[in-house]
Amino acid sequence: MKKLFALILAILMVASLAACSGDTETETADTNDTTAEELIMGTNAYFPPYEYYDADGTTIVGIDAEIAQAVADKLGMKLTIKDMDFDSLLTAVQTGSVDIVFAGLTVTEERQQAVDFTVTYATGIQVIIVPNDSDIASVDDLAGKTIGVQAGTTGDIYCTGDYGQDSVKQFQNGALAVAALQNGQVDCVVIDNEPAKSFVEANEGLKILDTEYITEDYAAAISKDNADLTTKVNNAMEELKADGTIDAIIAKYIKAE
Ligand code: GLN
Repeated sequence: MKKLFALILAILMVASLAACSGDTETETADTNDTTAEELIMGTNAYFPPYEYYDADGTTIVGIDAEIAQAVADKLGMKLTIKDMDFDSLLTAVQTGSVDIVFAGLTVTEERQQAVDFTVTYATGIQVIIVPNDSDIASVDDLAGKTIGVQAGTTGDIYCTGDYGQDSVKQFQNGALAVAALQNGQVDCVVIDNEPAKSFVEANEGLKILDTEYITEDYAAAISKDNADLTTKVNNAMEELKADGTIDAIIAKYIKAE
């Protein structure tokens, strides 16, 4: 009896080993295996309230960080966040140095050629920040002005398209663009509305014009070679939308007006 039990146990063990190695093979590249549990998110952490360093200056917090964490939790993955320049994020996801970009990233047709977008989770509006005493009162006054933007953002793309490269000064992040506005190096900054509010709150003498440049949708980006991850993240995000988690995360950072 004991022998029979040992034999059955041995057969079961071999069978389960076979099942495991089968799984490993279908995981394709072996490198995927070791990183399977990790979800590497790329972002530019100077975009409050979507992503920014908390008071101790070491942890990246914000709406995107929390949504990504909730997605990773649902998928049983460990989230790692990499901070990089905004204009290297899409290349990073295309080349696989990050798995997903959560960066208040606007869905555009041009970007859709390069990456896949997940379902959208927020709306952004390009707005104009000016000094309180500025003579710029609306979008119509931008011609002939020097406009500060974050390199590679939709604000950059639209302003460069509308007013020409010579009228637009690019900065590596919004905080640097706003610092240039404070110094008088640029006449205004075109940037997404929520970071604009944070920057205006944190800096004396600036205001946001009432006029809107353009309204956009935010989604995460994933490599076109990683359709499986896109499906999983979309399913997780749909669940997090349906159960109110995403709304609650956004409400925590953006107070209703
Ligand atoms: N929403 C803008 C874009 O996608 C800016 C995003 C950002 O600077 N993080 O271009």
